[in-house]
Amino acid sequence: MMATRAKKPRRPILKKPSNPSLRDPVGVYCRVRPLSRPDQECCIEVISDTTVQMHPPDGYRIFRNGEYRETQYSFKEVFGTLVVQKKVFDVVAKPLVEDLIRGKNGLLFTYGVTGSGKTHTMTGSPGDGGLLPRCLDMIFNSIGPFQAKRFVFKLDDKNGVDVQCEVDALLERQKRDVMPVPKPTPGKRQIDPEIADMINVQDQCKVEEVDEDNVYCVFVSYIEIYNNYIYDLLEEAPFDPIKPKPPQSKILREDQNHNMYVTGCTEVEVKSTEEAFEVFWRGQKKRRIANTQLNRESSRSHSVFIIKLAQAPLDADGDKVLQEKEQITLSQLSLVDLAGSERTNRTKAEGNRLREAGNINQSLMTLRTCIEVLRENQMYGLNKMVPYRDSKLTHLFKNYFDGEGKVRMIVCVNPKAEDYEESLQVMRFAEMTQEVEVARPVDRPLCGLTPGRRFRNQAFQEELSRKLEMRGGPVDAETEEQSVLETILQNFPPLPTCELLDINDDQTLPKLIEVLEKRHKLRQMLIKEFSKAVLTFKTVLQEFDCSVASKENYIKGRLSEKEKTIAGQKTEIERLEKKIKTLEYKIEILEKTATIYEEDKRNLQQELESKSQKLQRQASDKRRLEARFQGMVAETTMKWEKECERRVAAKQLEMQNKLWVKDEKLKQLKAIVTEPKNDKPERPSRERDREKPVQRSVSPSPVPNAPPVRLRHRRSRSAGERWVDHKPPSNLPTETVMQPHVPHAITVAAASEKALAKCDKYMLTHQELASDGEIETKLIKGDVFKTRGGGQAVQFTDIETLKQESPTGRKRRSSPSNPDPPEDAAESEWTDVETRCSVAVEMRAGSALGPGYEHHAQPKRRKP
Ligand code: ADP
Ligand code: MG
Repeated sequence: MMATRAKKPRRPILKKPSNPSLRDPVGVYCRVRPLSRPDQECCIEVISDTTVQMHPPDGYRIFRNGEYRETQYSFKEVFGTLVVQKKVFDVVAKPLVEDLIRGKNGLLFTYGVTGSGKTHTMTGSPGDGGLLPRCLDMIFNSIGPFQAKRFVFKLDDKNGVDVQCEVDALLERQKRDVMPVPKPTPGKRQIDPEIADMINVQDQCKVEEVDEDNVYCVFVSYIEIYNNYIYDLLEEAPFDPIKPKPPQSKILREDQNHNMYVTGCTEVEVKSTEEAFEVFWRGQKKRRIANTQLNRESSRSHSVFIIKLAQAPLDADGDKVLQEKEQITLSQLSLVDLAGSERTNRTKAEGNRLREAGNINQSLMTLRTCIEVLRENQMYGLNKMVPYRDSKLTHLFKNYFDGEGKVRMIVCVNPKAEDYEESLQVMRFAEMTQEVEVARPVDRPLCGLTPGRRFRNQAFQEELSRKLEMRGGPVDAETEEQSVLETILQNFPPLPTCELLDINDDQTLPKLIEVLEKRHKLRQMLIKEFSKAVLTFKTVLQEFDCSVASKENYIKGRLSEKEKTIAGQKTEIERLEKKIKTLEYKIEILEKTATIYEEDKRNLQQELESKSQKLQRQASDKRRLEARFQGMVAETTMKWEKECERRVAAKQLEMQNKLWVKDEKLKQLKAIVTEPKNDKPERPSRERDREKPVQRSVSPSPVPNAPPVRLRHRRSRSAGERWVDHKPPSNLPTETVMQPHVPHAITVAAASEKALAKCDKYMLTHQELASDGEIETKLIKGDVFKTRGGGQAVQFTDIETLKQESPTGRKRRSSPSNPDPPEDAAESEWTDVETRCSVAVEMRAGSALGPGYEHHAQPKRRKP
């Protein structure tokens, strides 16, 4: 029954799947039918494309208090109440039909309780055909133009198939034509409108890629399993309505490939969907009649509709079927509408019915057990025996599970509350079935002949008939040939009886001779005609050969051209590949170089950064140093400038003083020159003074002819005396703490006789630069005398020296007014030093005498 080649054992005796690594789980789908009435309680909901949820009806909840829960079941796909037959077909059955045409087996069954929609799904209803008519339609749409003539394929009684030559097939066709039994009538005739409605699926669905070099043939059979008996629903046994004979049950056998088949089962060769469905409908009618006649419950039987497809390759010419049995492939698709899965007590079966129900249960129970054992064996690697033989149903499909083939199941459920418990059982079985795996069928080996044979032959035939037509030959060779033959045979004069009953009969033989001569002449004529026809045909053939040869040559030329192009392209490709390789190699090298360069770049950048940082550091150092240096320079410059200014001023002062002294001397000389000689005896003291050593602490040295100096301080008796305070304009203001101050003095900038005449004391403030570079202020004091000639002379008596000293780096000079300064002041202060010495200097015509001082109470602090 299963896909088979008539060749001796194709499969090894050890029943291992041919490709054990490729196994597919049983495809389980769920279809939920709509409720019959909208007011019915619903307990099944489709919650996704693959899942349904079941919730117990209200009553159920009361009875089983603790057990109440919602349950979900998942399938390969779930079809809700609105899903149409076509969709179910496309998803579930189409792949099985495709497999069938590719020479692989398939099994599809519907499972569920009575009234859940099994038959609706499998068979459908008028105007809404189910899977079965759709499968047939798809098969014939696909193989239609490639079907073999009737009786070319012949099924044997051992589940195998034979192929016979066209002549034998023709003879068999003729034989059947003369038989009175109902014969399947070809195509365009009136078919039962009910059937037409069922198969009018309006779906030009077909398998793509059908092997067009094969010849196909479809056989259908229809059986019923009831009470564990197999009945052939297509058996043509005359049914006697008066004394109904119980139908004969069939037995199962295993063929050489371990496939099970029903012995002596009617298998009808069908050429179209209509014909196939008619056969099915016939079986269906018979089933109905049997059910009523034998008082059976239809829902308790399993019906199995088997579609077998035989296919064989065309010969090398693409003209006839290859006469090799081992090249034939036989595949089958079994469509099974199972009995209701409900338990016995549900339908309150009694007596005979109970027994039937028990058996139905038995076969479904066995199916369950087999699935369970298979699942366990596969899941846990066990090797338990699967009890296929316990029921006819499982036995029949044994090799689908043990051997190879695609198995699919549609579980049908009615969501009504009354079916809840039964539906639960159905769901559990379905879930378990999904876990069973079956071996995937292997692909059919190729026959090894050139593909496209059929179309080449067709083209040849067309060309030939065209040529023959042009020459006035027969158009449709086969039919034309037959009719010509028939007319010729009719034209032959019939042979008279050649029985010689009388010895004197002299008419029979001459008549016979005459007829035979006539026939001979006719034959000669026919031979001549025939040889003429042969000649014509030969020339046609030669011409055809020529044209074929020229076409062949042309094609060869084109082919060689193409080959050349291809070869050119190949070399080009090779060249390009080589180039690609070289370029790739270059790219690799360049990438490597780039990496090296990048590395170098990174290193150099790092180096650069460190160097620039170093440079910046150096620059900032330099700036800092410059700033420091500039500060130092400015400080030094300022100091030196100041120093220079001070020295210049001191020098100027010194020079002015010298100038003044010289001036004074010149004046005195002038006076001496202009004075009368009698003045001389008044100046003996000068001579005396000259003998005495004069104590001088500083320059300028006293004038050589000055009057003798009386060493005394006059400050104590200065009250009431009038002073000439001579301050030359070149004097610099000093910041000494002690500043000379003479009250009631006439301050003059140059020596003036007028002032001298009014005063009796004279004081000259003289500045000069000391050896240490500091300005030294000297207060030169003297007494004013009236000369005899009416002029004035000054006798210098005292010199006070005022000097400024830095407390650091200089030796403190002792001074009469400040002999012992405190040690701690020495570090931080400038000190004003007053040096005083007494001289006796006589000056004529104007000199200053020593004034008193005013000491400022606090010495001014000076910053160094
Ligand atoms: P089963 O074969 O399981 O006993 P049937 O196929 O005979 O059940 O269905 C019972 C009834 O329900 C039929 O009248 C059928 O037309 C209807 N029915 C079943 N499934 C559907 C469906 N999917 N859509 C509409 N009607 C359905
Ligand atoms: Mg049914």
